Parts: sequence; C-alpha cells; structure tokens
Amino acid sequence: MSVRQLPIIPISTPRIGAVGKTGKWRIFKPIIKQDKCVKCLQCWLYCPDAAIIRDENDNVTVNYDYCKGCGICAHECPVKAIEMVKEE
Ligand code: SF4
Ligand code: SF4
Repeated sequence: MSVRQLPIIPISTPRIGAVGKTGKWRIFKPIIKQDKCVKCLQCWLYCPDAAIIRDENDNVTVNYDYCKGCGICAHECPVKAIEMVKEE
C-alpha cells in the first residue's frame, strides 16, 4: 500500500495538554516551500505529533499550534522542501 492510499484522518490528533498547546515549546519552525513539494506525504507520515495537515489533494501544511519543531519532517523530505527556521 502506498502512503497516498492511507486515510487522511490520522490515528491520533493533537490535543491541548496539561501545559497548553505544545507549539509553544518550539525553537525552530518548519516552513514548507509549496513550489518544491512533490506531495510524497513523508512529512505527514513521519511527524510524531500529527502536526502536518494533509488535505484531500495531498497538499500539506503545518499545524503550528502543536508542531514542536523537532525537524523530523525536514529530515525526511526527499526534495528538501521543508526549511527549519529559528522562531522570532
Ligand atoms: S517539526 Fe516535528 S513536530 Fe513539527 S511538523 Fe515537523 S515533524 Fe512535526
Ligand atoms: S515530505 Fe516534502 S515533498 Fe513530501 S509532502 Fe512533505 S513537504 Fe512535500
């Protein structure tokens, strides 16, 4: 089965925790360069926090409320379409 055949709804979805939204922990944030993205969905598959949002056309965006800035998505992206930039 290819990644694209997986259901869009992830097994788990982010929720507000005891200390609030986990996006506040972030030091670096991922920026997706949509013009470079080939919709392979590796970032969506590997994000440990289910913070990559995938739409019905396999476009991907980041849920910054819950992205912790771990950088796994940028590491896994085969075309380097995700850049990690320091938070302001
Ligand atoms: S930086 Fe980490 S938490 Fe944020 S979207 Fe990428 S893989 Fe998910
Ligand atoms: S891993 Fe990279 S190319 Fe693949 S969907 Fe994510 S941003 Fe796009």
